[in-house]
Amino acid sequence: MAQTIWIHKLADAKKPEAAGMDYLCEHLFQDLTRSGKLTKLKGWNPTPDASAKDGATYRALFCDSCAKNHNNGNVRMAKEPVLV
Ligand SMILES: [Zn+2]
Repeated sequence: MAQTIWIHKLADAKKPEAAGMDYLCEHLFQDLTRSGKLTKLKGWNPTPDASAKDGATYRALFCDSCAKNHNNGNVRMAKEPVLV
């Protein structure tokens, strides 16, 4: 049973800092929320085809553990507000 990977939408202004990806995994998102900037401490894995169960794909930046867990279809978008 694959583990769900939650992703958070990134504000447009932050996308260039995230290798051009549109979403962050929750771990990178938490780091960004805490420190105000993205770091590569937990890994840095641009994943342009992160896919959800309904077949939608997202351009997401994953930490190493999410990159390892990702296996087509276990990505879900979190409901929290967009980070600005
Ligand atoms: Zn992660």
